[in-house]
Amino acid sequence: MVTETLPTTRSISEDAITAVAASLRGNLTQAGEAGYDEARAVYNAMIDKYPALIVRCRDVADVIAGVNFARDQGLLLSIRGGGHNGAGLGTVDDGLVLDLGLMHGVRVDPVSRTARVEGGALLSDLHHATAPFGLAMPSGIVASTGVGGITLGGGIGHLTRQLGLSIDNLLEADVVLADGSFVVASETEHPDLFWAVRGGGGNFGVVTSFLFKLHPISTLYAGPMLWPLERAAEVLRWYREFIVNAPETLNGFFAFLTVPPALPFPEHLWNQKVCGIVWSCTLPQEQAEVTFAPIRARFGQPALDGVGPISHQALQSMFDALYPAGEQWYWKSDFVNEIPDAAVDLHIRFAEQLPTWKSTMHLYPIDGVAGRVPRDATAWNYRDAHWGMVIIGVSPDPADSDRMTAWAREYWSALHPYSVGGAYVNMMMEEGQDRVRASYGDHYDQLARIKAKYDPDNLFQVNQNIKPA
Ligand SMILES: Cc1cc2nc3c(=O)[nH]c(=O)nc-3n(C[C@H](O)[C@H](O)[C@H](O)COP(=O)(O)OP(=O)(O)OC[C@H]3O[C@@H](n4cnc5c(N)ncnc54)[C@H](O)[C@@H]3O)c2cc1C
Repeated sequence: MVTETLPTTRSISEDAITAVAASLRGNLTQAGEAGYDEARAVYNAMIDKYPALIVRCRDVADVIAGVNFARDQGLLLSIRGGGHNGAGLGTVDDGLVLDLGLMHGVRVDPVSRTARVEGGALLSDLHHATAPFGLAMPSGIVASTGVGGITLGGGIGHLTRQLGLSIDNLLEADVVLADGSFVVASETEHPDLFWAVRGGGGNFGVVTSFLFKLHPISTLYAGPMLWPLERAAEVLRWYREFIVNAPETLNGFFAFLTVPPALPFPEHLWNQKVCGIVWSCTLPQEQAEVTFAPIRARFGQPALDGVGPISHQALQSMFDALYPAGEQWYWKSDFVNEIPDAAVDLHIRFAEQLPTWKSTMHLYPIDGVAGRVPRDATAWNYRDAHWGMVIIGVSPDPADSDRMTAWAREYWSALHPYSVGGAYVNMMMEEGQDRVRASYGDHYDQLARIKAKYDPDNLFQVNQNIKPA
């Protein structure tokens, strides 16, 4: 979160800019130059910021040059991985954007079952690289998301119950610190930094590469199952009990949504508001079908049953076309431990008012393996919550922004009393220090001490910011 005002490039000499540009293997774009508007755009079209400089890094040396330049010139610095952050924390007005997008290489080692992933890679780069080996790691559900941002914030997705969060599969990170030095963070090297980057976001430095543990995952039995909104109370009451007791090979996130008015959805369902569960099961097909038989029979024939064999890579891209870059996006989230009947009723009231057909609400399970990691093992604070709830207003039309923002805020306010108090930092807007503190709970003070050690002047402050102690 941007909290301090620093000088803009108006105070920087052209010579200094020319010198840093000449030192790069990547490139530097200044405000007003050709390509500037494409280079400054981020995923959420509600965010319209005008950085003074955009440095597109090709390698670690470029990252060090960019960090040193921003610090020495007193510029606000934002790090951009995939540019997906809802609050737009991959960009900044007047300052310097360090764009890692050119650093998207992935090297898979099938013997050790690990992947070395550069800091600007997208989830699609990761899935593309690991799929041919029949390997995968747990991550988010839209493949255009950056590995950098999602991992540093936690990483929730289809495999969370079976394999944990993305950070639970992180073995090592290469980090460029605020003073321009380079360190490796792991259980054995700079373990305090390694603890902090697993959930503490981009507060501690620029991660130029991640080393992840991979798992043998190729074909799953997965997809959405939808029911009419009139059945939502029954489905949600059943789901809240079922999923927390389900085998960890089964993941399912609950959603309210509108059926997209396009193929392959059956035309008679187009634009209908529904509830659904997006399942993903790693059991072999025959066993998965046995698991799903009672679910399929539970409420009569679902309005749509899209669950079947699918490759991990295809599952991870299932929603990409529905949520392209360049649309209006506003979301609010909270961690949730219980969904009492009163909360179910409120959910349904707001689901009936979904403001646009792309707006939605998801409840992502974070129990199973993710819940069993000891709470103090990483900076991620809410290991004992059962779900990450997120309420999302989305539309291609800027005219919808106010209406969908108001809906998301009202929905969140109504449900917040039923939450555990804090939210997933990757699914927040800029909501102030109290919310950041609530999200880290009593891990905040430890994070602030580590911040003071590695970034005492808060150079990395364009994030859900942890103030140096
Ligand atoms: C369509 C969509 C779907 C999503 N689905 C999921 C999901 O299924 N599960 C989930 O957990 N989250 C999900 N998210 C949330 C996502 O995790 C966050 O938006 C995350 O911040 C995106 O990371 P990014 O690298 O793309 O973003 P950016 O905007 O580039 O960066 C976000 C933050 O991370 C920091 N950062 C990024 N890379 C680095 C790096 N290499 N080193 C240091 N700091 C870095 C930035 O400084 C910034 O503060 C989704 C978001 C969207 C828009």
